[in-house]
Amino acid sequence: MPFHRHLIKYSYLFLLYPIFVLSYVVSEKTGKSFIPERIIFLHLLLYFVAYFISNKKLSSIYVRFIYLSTLVITFFEVAYVSIYKERITPSTAFILIETNSSETSEYLKEYFNTEIFIWLLILLIPSVFILIGVNKAIQQYTLKSSFKAIFNDFRKLVLFIESLWVRTQNTVWKKVVLGLVLFVIGISLYFNANHHKYHAVFQIFNGYERYKIEVEKYKNFFAASKKSKQLKTVVKKEDDLKETIIIVIGESTTKHHLGIYGYHRNTTPNLAKLRNELLVFNDVISPHTHTIPSLEKVLTFATTANPEAKEYGSLIQLVKTAGYKTYWISNQIPVGINETMVSIVAKAADYSYFTNLGGEQELRSLDERVLPIVAKSLKTKDTKKVLFVHLLGTHTQYKNRYPENFNQFKDTPSTPFGTQQAFDAINQYDNAVLYNDFVISEIISLLKANATPNEKQQMIYLSDHGEDVYQTVDFNGHSEAIGSYPMFEIPFVFWSNQKSELEKYRSFTDRKYMVDDFIYSVADILSITFEGMQSENSIFSPNFQSKQRIVKQHIDFDVEIKPVQ
Ligand SMILES: [Zn+2]
Repeated sequence: MPFHRHLIKYSYLFLLYPIFVLSYVVSEKTGKSFIPERIIFLHLLLYFVAYFISNKKLSSIYVRFIYLSTLVITFFEVAYVSIYKERITPSTAFILIETNSSETSEYLKEYFNTEIFIWLLILLIPSVFILIGVNKAIQQYTLKSSFKAIFNDFRKLVLFIESLWVRTQNTVWKKVVLGLVLFVIGISLYFNANHHKYHAVFQIFNGYERYKIEVEKYKNFFAASKKSKQLKTVVKKEDDLKETIIIVIGESTTKHHLGIYGYHRNTTPNLAKLRNELLVFNDVISPHTHTIPSLEKVLTFATTANPEAKEYGSLIQLVKTAGYKTYWISNQIPVGINETMVSIVAKAADYSYFTNLGGEQELRSLDERVLPIVAKSLKTKDTKKVLFVHLLGTHTQYKNRYPENFNQFKDTPSTPFGTQQAFDAINQYDNAVLYNDFVISEIISLLKANATPNEKQQMIYLSDHGEDVYQTVDFNGHSEAIGSYPMFEIPFVFWSNQKSELEKYRSFTDRKYMVDDFIYSVADILSITFEGMQSENSIFSPNFQSKQRIVKQHIDFDVEIKPVQ
């Protein structure tokens, strides 16, 4: 067999090998069959170009470049699919972009496991041999022989081109044939311009473009919100009563690991001691399983039913308009690769503090860093205040979330997934929850310590979304594609120094609630009135009406995700 034939054979192997590995992993992990014909077509096109490069060295470099970049991209997607059990889409790319770079490196450390390492070897080892083989073949090939070989290979499919080729030795005819081939490719591209859209690179690029548009929209929304009916009709509080509320936004904490929610380990000893001063709402879920889409609804008028309502404004703008001084105190990194949307929302606050500015050494930014700033903010003279405290909570990597003296859960935890990896993750997660309990109870202590006579004080603690730590799936983390109930079911705890308040709401703790309506709950307990207030969507209101909780676009959480009790 002439060498150019080898080249052709290798080339196919070449393009198909990583793509077939990807195809296999996608089918295995997502349970959906994935036929990568569009990706194959795209790669065929790229390789086809190689046959027109007559310089062997150049051709060899080109082919290797295409192959190596395919390998890298394929490996990235294989790793992604095997962790998240979904393909890269513009919205997953969106989340990757929103996540800041030090979080990304935490993700890598968290998820770079043996399975992914094995996939890397599966992709890499044969690829090395393929590259060596192709390199040899390229050394032997001539432009003319390769042309001929291509058409020989396509003979069965495109007999007429083959016959034209064989019958004519005339260079004009060769050009005609070449023109025809390019014409066919051109036409098929014209009729199906979407081949490239199935490629991870395109998906990521597209996600980035959409992200930029979203950030722009956000800026416009908050400019537009100045005209919103809701904000324009807020009645400003003119009384001199001192009032302070702290809204503590946790991170990746599922209610299923909190002692006060019935978890078998006592992960919340401090909150348990305060049990008489707290209301623990049992049935609250987040609208999403990721920070940004969830907080976008928690912190603005946007809801699942009406996402565009974010242009009516944010919770910060609402309470500020009502006469509260607003503080944003965050232990989360303020900027990702770009500004994150949460920081854009936070910008409306009168005062903002970021205790964690990112970078390698900041990965372990313990949440207690917010405490001195909370203390300082409570001491200011303003009579009406709302403090937002955004914690790192129990975000991966869990072991970076607590100091050594909170490393208390070390025995074998209960899980259906009996691997050391699962045991370690659960123990570290529970230690992080234990530390989170300390931080929240310290915030309550600070409130108490700074109370002035007759001051009304309240605190709400909720998490942006939950987390599944080897509870229902062999996995730890959160992903909308898996979307298990521990990823949606969040803690929602209310504290007040007013006994009457606690009594008023005590019978409401079993209400089914989704925190996309959170803005109405806060407006309600602060007695903020405005046109468009929906008291039926406040968990604290006597007018409350329970409604369908739709997640993942169209899924009824209570029917399809929540386990039957
Ligand atoms: Zn989150």
